[in-house]
Amino acid sequence: MDTNSRIFVAGHRGMVGSALVRALQARGYRNLVTRTRAELDLTDQSAVDAFFDTAQIDAVLLAAAKVGGILANSTQPAQFAYDNLAIETNVIRAAYQTGVERLVFFGSSCIYPRECPQPIRETYLLTSPLEPTNEAYAIAKIAGLKLCEAYNRQYGTHYVSLMPTNLYGPNDNYDLGSSHVLPALIRKAHEARASGAASLTVWGSGTPRREFLHVDDLADATIFVLEHETGDGVYNVGVGEDLSIRELAERVCETVGFEGELVFDTSKPDGTPRKLLDVSRLGGLGWRAHIGLEEGLARTYGDFLHTHGAPVLEAHAQA
Ligand code: GDP
Repeated sequence: MDTNSRIFVAGHRGMVGSALVRALQARGYRNLVTRTRAELDLTDQSAVDAFFDTAQIDAVLLAAAKVGGILANSTQPAQFAYDNLAIETNVIRAAYQTGVERLVFFGSSCIYPRECPQPIRETYLLTSPLEPTNEAYAIAKIAGLKLCEAYNRQYGTHYVSLMPTNLYGPNDNYDLGSSHVLPALIRKAHEARASGAASLTVWGSGTPRREFLHVDDLADATIFVLEHETGDGVYNVGVGEDLSIRELAERVCETVGFEGELVFDTSKPDGTPRKLLDVSRLGGLGWRAHIGLEEGLARTYGDFLHTHGAPVLEAHAQA
């Protein structure tokens, strides 16, 4: 892989894909190939085949996926399973058939069993049942990484799967019905402060523990994998530390400057109790995360203010 390689960043408008494009461009990669969903529907097999037949791609970063938080995952399981399975099967097969040398597939730490020993090693995959709230998504992502492994075994390709922990950063989804917890709390704290509310509602008990990785660190890990002979298989990508949802809410409130109460809505699901990744496999090759939560939250709130902040504050000012 060098800076002249033609790299297809699938899903370049999403949080992961856009971080990949920023990081690759900053490193001098000049032949990035992107397609919007309107230009290329990755769930359409013949469209994907036609694209790969002519695009002369050297490497694929498969960051296109249907993603969402605990509510969206538990209410739309068919969509999460179908869209992700279709995208993976179409892209991975077309990549192989057109001679693509390197492919990086992105999954998630929710592929691991619900009651997993902590921190979670890559070898714990498929050792016991999954967390029900995101089982459909997890099954699709497990199928994707197993498909990469199968192509590697049968055809000698070098397709690698990265399993990041909970991600956050620029271009995240701030819609409260479908977002993950960190962007949801940023938005809630921002709006609570703007409206002078006395409290902020956090879903669940606040006791589940989660680990948060800034998406720019995932992009950095991806370039590391592309540029090193990492070998095949699955690599966890995380920071190696977690915190409770209550602690996260407190940190977000500090960042945003909201000083009211936290109220826990226990009618909402907690999901898996803990998912801290063991990151020693990629760490052993020399990669580690650089963006700590304090810095990451401050940067992310800055991004949020830039993209979403003004209308809320204006609305408040007019009220
Ligand atoms: P998960 O890591 O797959 O469970 O996905 P989420 O990021 O959606 O949720 C993580 C945890 O944060 C769960 O225990 C949620 O109940 C909790 N949580 C607390 N408040 C919120 C919120 O406003 N939105 C979301 N999505 N989760 C929340």
